[in-house]
Amino acid sequence: MPRKGIKADAEWRKELSETQYQVLRKKETEPPFAGEYWNNHKKGIYYCAGCGAPLFNSETKFDSGTGWPSFSAPIKKEDIDAEKDVSYGMVRTEVQCKQCGGHLGHLFDDGPKPTGRRYCINSASLKFKPEKEKEEKKE
Ligand code: FE
Repeated sequence: MPRKGIKADAEWRKELSETQYQVLRKKETEPPFAGEYWNNHKKGIYYCAGCGAPLFNSETKFDSGTGWPSFSAPIKKEDIDAEKDVSYGMVRTEVQCKQCGGHLGHLFDDGPKPTGRRYCINSASLKFKPEKEKEEKKE
């Protein structure tokens, strides 16, 4: 399993798409309402696009109106690193995948009850896998 900082920059460049690389490794933010998952309402699990760690469950996803996938809690708090971020003249809390150190997005305290938390995450940092659907697909 890859750990934080274990991969060289050149390796990430090869493995990730340009957008994933800019977000995960360079802390860029994708434009709102443009990513793959902001409007995804399917049930399933969101994994880290860098290392595959399971980070968020669709059960905690909510419509924040921001244009980014938003969650009220991660699957496991221990799998997320939260650090103070003072870039762009704002004081925010940056969230990273603990396993690979990839930038995910930011954490705000204006989320829905009961957690009051809003994990504002870039689609580019995530890889969604839907829950297995039932028989319907069979003929
Ligand atoms: Fe990761």
